[in-house]
Amino acid sequence: MGYSYDDQNIFAKILRGEIPCSKVHETEHSLAFADIAPKAPHHVLVIPKGPYVCYDHFAAEATDAEIVDYTRAIGAVCAQLGVSPSDGGNGYRMIANTGNDGVQEVPHLHVHILAGRNIGPMILMRP
Ligand code: 5GP
Repeated sequence: MGYSYDDQNIFAKILRGEIPCSKVHETEHSLAFADIAPKAPHHVLVIPKGPYVCYDHFAAEATDAEIVDYTRAIGAVCAQLGVSPSDGGNGYRMIANTGNDGVQEVPHLHVHILAGRNIGPMILMRP
């Protein structure tokens, strides 16, 4: 069936500069900014600049350069926040909500990086 990208979503507007964001990191193909409603002391969203709805869309259609850039941007944000265990940080959780069951609110690929406290159980234990 494929994906169709809605360019009126809020992250597309951030990328076009139509609404502001608190930028954390930017590369040729990726942008990281603070979540407007943080759920942890560090809550950063990392998005590709290209029009991808979710991770499997990105994995199927992004160029190798975009995929490398995005992956490295996520690593750079972890380093910048000082949360990588390899640098003595205390770790983080990375989440990519997708579609209805994943409870994705904004239809532009983003990973959440949550850190700065123990993030708790992976999911609510509900059958
Ligand atoms: P999702 O549920 O799609 O995985 O998460 C969307 C996230 O985007 C939420 O955590 C929400 O707080 C954040 N968000 C929604 N609107 C804005 C906005 O205008 N600016 C920023 N920085 N974050 C937003």
